[in-house]
Amino acid sequence: MQADLLIHADWVLPVDASDSTLASHSLAVVDGRIAALLPRAQAEAQIDAAKTLELPGHALIPGLVNAHTHSPMSLLRGLADDLPLMTWLHEHIWPAEGRWVDQEFVADGTRLALLEMLRGGITCFNDMYFHAEVTARVCAEAGMRVLAGMIVVDFPTRYADNADEYLRRGLELHEHYRDHPLVRPAFAPHSTYAVSEAPLTRVRTLADELEVQVHIHLHETRDEVQQVLRAHGERPIARLDRLGLLGPQLVAVHMTQLEDGEIARLADTGTQVVHCPESNLKLASGFCPVQDLLAAGVNVALGTDGAASNNDLNLFGEMRTAALLAKGVAGSANAVPAEQALRMATWNGAKALGLEDTIGSLEVGKAADIVAVDLGDPHTQPLYHPGSQLVYAAGSHQVRHVWIRGRQVLRDGAPLTLDPLAIIEAARQWGARIAEV
Ligand SMILES: [Zn+2]
Repeated sequence: MQADLLIHADWVLPVDASDSTLASHSLAVVDGRIAALLPRAQAEAQIDAAKTLELPGHALIPGLVNAHTHSPMSLLRGLADDLPLMTWLHEHIWPAEGRWVDQEFVADGTRLALLEMLRGGITCFNDMYFHAEVTARVCAEAGMRVLAGMIVVDFPTRYADNADEYLRRGLELHEHYRDHPLVRPAFAPHSTYAVSEAPLTRVRTLADELEVQVHIHLHETRDEVQQVLRAHGERPIARLDRLGLLGPQLVAVHMTQLEDGEIARLADTGTQVVHCPESNLKLASGFCPVQDLLAAGVNVALGTDGAASNNDLNLFGEMRTAALLAKGVAGSANAVPAEQALRMATWNGAKALGLEDTIGSLEVGKAADIVAVDLGDPHTQPLYHPGSQLVYAAGSHQVRHVWIRGRQVLRDGAPLTLDPLAIIEAARQWGARIAEV
C-alpha cells in the first residue's frame, strides 16, 4: 500500500468498540483518512509511505472533541470569577459582551481559543457564540474542525435584533458552509430561559429539514429550573419534550438537575448530554449524574464550556475531573474509569455532534484526526496502563503532534496554521481595553 504518512508509535488507543491499547503499532494515512492500523512489523513490510514518523514513548489517541464551548469568550477569561451563574451572566458577562463583542473580538478570541485547544489535542469543538460566521472562517483558515453554532436568543445584541434575525443570519451561515469538509453548522438556541417558544419551535422544524444538531444549555442550575417552572409551569426538559426537541439531534449541555423519569426520557429519545464538570464546579451549578446517565444508556460527552467559567479549554483536565467527580457523586470508585473518560472526550463527543461516522476513533476509513502524546515526562512514568496515565496523570502540554483530516496542524508542540505571538499580542490588547472601563 502507498501511504501519504506512516506513524510508528509505542501505543495506540483507538477508542474502538473494544477499549483496547495496542503496543508498537503503526497508523497509515491516505488522502486525509486512516488507511491502516496494524502491528509495526506488518506495516513495515506492507506500507510504502511518502513520509514516516517515529514516535517512541508516545501514545496516539483520536483527536479530542470539546462538545461545548464559547470560543471567543477566551478574551473574557478571568474577568469575573467566583460568582454564581445568574449574577455572573447578568452583571458581568452579558454587559461586557454588549459593549465589546464585534467581529474583531470574535476573530481574535476564536484564534486564542484555537491556539489553546490545538496545543491541548482538541481537534473539533462545538461552539455557541455571536458572529459564528467569523468563528467558522477562522476555523476553516486554521484547519480546525468545528460545529459552528447558529445562535438564537430573544434579546438584541450588536449581532442581531430579535430571534428572527438570529435565525436568518444562522441560515446564511448554513448556506455558506453546508458542504464544507471541516465546518458544520448547528442551531444553538442559548437556553429555555433566553429563547421563547416560537423560535424554539422554528429551530426544531429547521433542524429536521436541514438535518443539523441543536445545541442548548439545559438544567444547568437549580435556579434555572425553578425560574422556568415558575414562568411556564413546567421544567425546561419537559418544555423541550412538548415542543418535540428531545432526540438524537439535541445536544443538551450541563444537565445537573435531573429526576429519574427525566433520565429515562433522555435514554428513550436518544438525547445527547454534554457534561462540563469544571464549569459546573466553578459556578457551583450542581453535579451531573454521569454514572446514572451512562447506566441508562445515554451518550455523555465532555465540554470545557467557555474560558470565562472554567478558566481553560483543556480536555485533559476535564477528563480527569469528570472521572474523579463521577466517583464522588456516585459514591463508587468504579464510576467513569479512565477508558470511559477518554471515550467521553472522543467517541461520545463525535456521536453527540452527529460526526461518529467521520471522527471519534482511530479506525480505518475515518478522518485522520490524530493526537500524539509524549508519555516520557516524569509524572507519566513508569507506564503500566497508558489509558490510566493519559486521564489521571498526563497534561495537555504533553501533546506533541496533531493532525486534522490528515493535515498536520501541530508539530513538536508548535502550531503550523496559527501565529502564536500575534494571537497573544491581540489578546493582551483586548485585555487592556476591557480592563480600562
Ligand atoms: Zn456554556
